[in-house]
Amino acid sequence: MATSSAASVDMEDIQTVDLMSELLRRMKCASKPDKRLVFIGPPGSGKGTQSPVIKDEFCLCHLSTGDMLRAAVAAKTPLGVKAKEAMDKGELVSDDLVVGIMDEAMNRPKCQKGFILDGFPRTVTQAEKLDEMLNRRGAQIDKVLNFAIDDSVLEERITGRWIHPSSGRSYHTKFAPPKVPGVDDLTGEPLIQRKDDNADVLRSRLDAFHKQTQPVCFLIVHELEDYQRI
Ligand code: AMP
Repeated sequence: MATSSAASVDMEDIQTVDLMSELLRRMKCASKPDKRLVFIGPPGSGKGTQSPVIKDEFCLCHLSTGDMLRAAVAAKTPLGVKAKEAMDKGELVSDDLVVGIMDEAMNRPKCQKGFILDGFPRTVTQAEKLDEMLNRRGAQIDKVLNFAIDDSVLEERITGRWIHPSSGRSYHTKFAPPKVPGVDDLTGEPLIQRKDDNADVLRSRLDAFHKQTQPVCFLIVHELEDYQRI
């Protein structure tokens, strides 16, 4: 009898309702076209809020360089150790580090139907490297969403933000409070506040956005004959 590496999962242990919903999800996903999306915008503009919703709707994977870097920092991996100082100050981590993790992440099985790039590319060099990664895969970006928003509203959004780390769901003490303070609505797990979500670090993050990331927006807008604009 054939065996596989998944043989350790006993199907009897999986609830029928879970099996059915996974089956329905896969049937829905089979009819979805592949999509490769880039979300660009300053911190607090809504990229991370929209990503889980759009990801589920189109069966994509959500690739957030910020999430990957925070996980590396929490696990104290060599990457995390190198990235921590820049992240704490609200500065950008070096292009080489983020390009490496993104190139690897795109190979994940979950990204088979495409991806949402959230927070990447953030510099012109990263945008050029992204083109190389896509060329190697014979792929291209289908749509770019520019989350344009005025700086003046971002401080209140960022300082009141609470996040459920494992799902990426985000809440806000004033604009989108959870049903129970400090707790995720769906799982009941604790919410966290990001260390860099404070007014001081936000200033550096916005500075980095305007100086290093906005030129990427202009570059993409000039290339929009190739991209389809939403
Ligand atoms: P985010 O969660 O997207 O706000 O990112 C949090 C922090 O991670 C940023 O302030 C940067 O220090 C770092 N970071 C995330 N994405 C990138 C990127 N593409 N390039 C360089 N640094 C990044």
